[in-house]
Amino acid sequence: MSEPRAGVEDPAPEAGARPKDPAPEAGTRPKDARPEAGTRAEDAVVPLCELVALGCRILGANGHADYVWGHVSARDPLGRGIWMKAATYGFEEITVDHVILVSFEGDVLDGDHPRHSEWPIHTEIMRARPDVGAAVHSHPPHAIAIGAAGRPLLPLSHAGTLFVPPDVPRFTKTADLIVTRELGACVAECLGALDAVLLVNHGIVTSGQEVRDAVIRAVLLEKAAHQQILTHACGEPRFWSSDEESVAKRHNVWSEAHLVMLWEYLSRSLPPG
Ligand SMILES: [Zn+2]
Repeated sequence: MSEPRAGVEDPAPEAGARPKDPAPEAGTRPKDARPEAGTRAEDAVVPLCELVALGCRILGANGHADYVWGHVSARDPLGRGIWMKAATYGFEEITVDHVILVSFEGDVLDGDHPRHSEWPIHTEIMRARPDVGAAVHSHPPHAIAIGAAGRPLLPLSHAGTLFVPPDVPRFTKTADLIVTRELGACVAECLGALDAVLLVNHGIVTSGQEVRDAVIRAVLLEKAAHQQILTHACGEPRFWSSDEESVAKRHNVWSEAHLVMLWEYLSRSLPPG
């Protein structure tokens, strides 16, 4: 993308667009894709959907709210696709009932709400990356500003060291919606073996082995971008961590124990309701 683009608006998602199956009647579930209660599969799926919902609410409370846009997904443990936030609701509104099962072809297999049109971001990343169990796509303003400015992300604070080095990759093929498997595969290719990418003039994508990791990366990517914009407001950045120090901080500051603490704090600090 070599020249500035006019702002591209995320239009309303394709409400209820289902390539094959008609929308189920309200209050019904098509063919019980969610396993029977009490089975091992149900034991795995319900907590996963609760995690997706919790991740959505954490994003909504931490700089990622953009009306009803943005989504979190987790890989279905039975290999049927992804459990994903439904369309038409904001992050802060999501409960387990707003998490739907979407196949790798985009069919809604379980759930009473429409899917987001950008489902291929999630399915294609998971198709390309067997190690990825969860993904986030959102439109956080500071990360979008860094991408639009063409600035490399700098490790100016703890948050930045989670990502840099190397610089966060930039997806510039289009700033429009990622609504085809081909475009989703291009996003996955841009992400490569990393876990964060800036969709220039659009938003971000993060990934992780589990919902916690993908959500924390999204929260910290936006925090790092915010810090960088504050620094630019004071003048050109003069000091930041060397690559060596940044990698060391990635292990020290963002250790597993600290990630657990952060996740529990983010969960506790959600507004009531
Ligand atoms: Zn988007």
